[in-house]
Amino acid sequence: MDFFPIFLNLRKRPCVVIGGGEVASRKIFLLLDAGALVTVFSPALGETIRKWSDEGKIKHVAQEFHPEMLEGCVLVIAATDDASVNRQVSEAAKARGIPVNVVDQPDLCTFIMPSIIDRSPITIAVSTGGRSPVLARLIRARLESMIPAGYGRLAGQVTTFREKVKQTFKHPPRRRQFWEEVLQGRIAELVYSGQDKAAEKALQERIDSADGNKPRIGEVYLVGGGPGDPDLLTFRALRLMQQADVVVYDRLVSPAVLELVRRDAERIYAGKERDNHALPQEDINHLLVRLAKEGKCVVRLKGGDPFIFGRGGEEIDTLAAEGIPFQVVPGITAAAGCAAYAGIPLTHRDYAQSVVFVTGHLQDGTVNLNWKALVQPDQTIVFYMGLHGVESICRELIKHGLPANMPAALVQQGTTRNQRVLTGDLSSLPEIVKQAKVKPPTLIIVGEVIKLHEKLKWFHPTPASGDQ
Ligand code: SAH
Repeated sequence: MDFFPIFLNLRKRPCVVIGGGEVASRKIFLLLDAGALVTVFSPALGETIRKWSDEGKIKHVAQEFHPEMLEGCVLVIAATDDASVNRQVSEAAKARGIPVNVVDQPDLCTFIMPSIIDRSPITIAVSTGGRSPVLARLIRARLESMIPAGYGRLAGQVTTFREKVKQTFKHPPRRRQFWEEVLQGRIAELVYSGQDKAAEKALQERIDSADGNKPRIGEVYLVGGGPGDPDLLTFRALRLMQQADVVVYDRLVSPAVLELVRRDAERIYAGKERDNHALPQEDINHLLVRLAKEGKCVVRLKGGDPFIFGRGGEEIDTLAAEGIPFQVVPGITAAAGCAAYAGIPLTHRDYAQSVVFVTGHLQDGTVNLNWKALVQPDQTIVFYMGLHGVESICRELIKHGLPANMPAALVQQGTTRNQRVLTGDLSSLPEIVKQAKVKPPTLIIVGEVIKLHEKLKWFHPTPASGDQ
């Protein structure tokens, strides 16, 4: 180990920074965050530090460096662009036994500053021993994505209840098990979603019912699984998928996304193929209620976003009626995913000031829509579930006033390796689609913005073998 990691208490302790530029300001920012009393010695100040000085957050002394400046301080940072000054600061600090950091010069440092993940009071520091700050930052980015932003507040809840839990669970292994459950489960999720009061209440209830035999109610998470590419899942979706006892999923959830569900979670297919529902909606609603009543952590995983043509509202309506706790996690809806991966901006200053999402699902062989609202000028129209109705959709749009040469596109299995984008116009698209033997799911986009596809397309996937 090149450097010994410690965490210093700098609250109200005098720290000195030599230098007044942008680099110095980044270090000062961290010192202030730790509650240090910062004095900056520098003949001139950059804008940021000048502002802090004006606001009284730091003390500024407009002088060239001399060693006496370090008297009485507990920590020094040299951040000037003058190598000889930096060296003098280092030597003067070492002579006085004060820890010193010289920015980007590890040989002059007695301490180095790590990359920090701040979830106060939890702090994670990453160091590469001064060898590669870039690598440290990359590691930090990975940790940032793994550690929910609410971790600090979760630690706060632990502090509040620590004594009570200690009283209730006298046996240390049982106590540890209790905290493990709390810190990974529903209570933690409540904190992450900002519902601290509800979390406190749930925690209190858990403690109160710890010795009794009160059955525990689980929770249902209605999770948007996005359009297909697993990289498009939210952190929250992924975390819940990895905690689930049971996952109830639809046909639209891509295999790559399903792959990320906790290995030993039970998987229940709820189907919903066109005209071939594996489970009627009514049964899905009740299935979720039953599983939650068994005390399970249930993830109801849906393609795209649960509240956009996902019948998510109906499912949680039943849960709400039965008093089952639930949360909703948004996902990237097919329109957003397909548009981005096809290089078709849904709005654009030159072409479209509004965008509408509509269902093209056929009711009794006709698409029963408010066509007048759809054919407004400067508007992009996105049809979900439109493949079977593509012919009548195009026909009706023309009939209600859109020009036959209005650009139109169909995106097959958007964001996945089998994505294909077929473009044409309202008169040609149905035939193009027929010839191309497309595979669902597909999305139809109509509007001038399609013109941008040729120039902006960037995603050229290699189809998964055997899938095409
Ligand atoms: N809740 C989902 C939509 C469910 S409706 C969402 O927010 O995306 C199902 C329709 O979504 C499909 O018929 C298709 O039109 C569209 N769809 C979903 N995923 C898609 C994908 N990867 N590519 C193209 N269309 C998709």
